[in-house]
Amino acid sequence: MEKKSHILVVEDEQRIARVLQLELTHEGYTTTIVHDGLDAWQTLQAQSFDLLLLDVMLPGLSGIELLRRVRSRGDATPVIMLTARDATVDKVTGLDLGANDYMTKPFEIEELLARIRVSLRQAPIAKKHSSRSLLTAGSLHVDTASHDVHVENKHVALTNREYTLLCYLLEHPNQVLSRDQLLENVWGYDFYGETNVVDVYIRYLRNKLEKPFGLSFIQTVRGAGYMFKESSL
Ligand code: CA
Repeated sequence: MEKKSHILVVEDEQRIARVLQLELTHEGYTTTIVHDGLDAWQTLQAQSFDLLLLDVMLPGLSGIELLRRVRSRGDATPVIMLTARDATVDKVTGLDLGANDYMTKPFEIEELLARIRVSLRQAPIAKKHSSRSLLTAGSLHVDTASHDVHVENKHVALTNREYTLLCYLLEHPNQVLSRDQLLENVWGYDFYGETNVVDVYIRYLRNKLEKPFGLSFIQTVRGAGYMFKESSL
């Protein structure tokens, strides 16, 4: 049997969220419902989805900001925006930022279901195009195809290990990453070495990416590890 597509619904209006959940479940999709933009962003750190249904007006983080974050980390998951009837600006901004489609509220559920099917069908094509993707935080840009790293438009040469560590930090912003977690994910399970190798490489990154630019986005969290502070860029 085909794997069920998993749809993340981000909608703060309980009534609409409930209808969407019922209808989508009835159509055979797996759904996760969240009512707040920040919850959605946290959910997206933890797992990936086949499609996102994003309301624009949300508490926490707006749907537009969520979409911007999703796309700027190189994530090509199809996104359908749900916008208010007269919010032309939202539609244009949404499409500019890489939304696949939008629906104006109130919408016919049948039409939404049709658009979801179309977006899911097109998804593998979109994913292929995104193999050249950009991880971005402020003035820091990482091209994951060419492995080029730029800060403030200046190219910075990194070793492979420094590069892998940087990508891991970028993919896990604003959360405490323990030395063990970094060792396991950047050096691999079978790494038998001193855990201070993490500190050494963090220092290398700071010397190359922070110092020359007067930046400070890798924070030391005492007794815990490190945190990539997205807002410091
Ligand atoms: Ca709303």
